[in-house]
Amino acid sequence: MKYASTMTSSESELNKISTELKHLSLKRQQLLERKKLQCIFQELQNRVQLEQPEEGDPYQHEIDSIDDKLNQLAERKAELQKNHDNMVYGNDEKNSLKAPTVILDLENLPPRPTRTQCPECEQFITTETFTSISSVTWLMCFMTALIGCIAGCCLIPFCMDRFKSTTHRCPKCRTSIITIKQL
Ligand SMILES: [Zn+2]
Repeated sequence: MKYASTMTSSESELNKISTELKHLSLKRQQLLERKKLQCIFQELQNRVQLEQPEEGDPYQHEIDSIDDKLNQLAERKAELQKNHDNMVYGNDEKNSLKAPTVILDLENLPPRPTRTQCPECEQFITTETFTSISSVTWLMCFMTALIGCIAGCCLIPFCMDRFKSTTHRCPKCRTSIITIKQL
């Protein structure tokens, strides 16, 4: 009986961790979007007025503070991932080496089948991966064409997986979990 109750508490703890990780990923996305906007504003301002404004660059300040927040998020994520690993595999170093790593941070999935938790059905799964042509593939194609396209060299990027997007899919519920763009 006692054993069962500890199991449930550690399971709810695991759920809490994965919920917070999801929340952090969302927040990171938002911060990255904001940073992109600030960089665009900064670029525009630099083009309009060539001399630096006297009161310093407000956009740079904003970008720095976003970077700070991003670093904090990354630290918190690493901490959560460590807590999670400790709970699943125990603190024993040997144990954690034997067990395959479950990567909960979906943005860090490598471009190959990986053990993770499906955000849809919440089961621990090994993802199926497939590659698809992305904007990067086209970009590489155009760049090869610019350099000088002899005998269809610009088609090479379409044959190389590192210039394509990798999509991870859950084998149980068939949901596409995340698409990772290369470069
Ligand atoms: Zn699933």
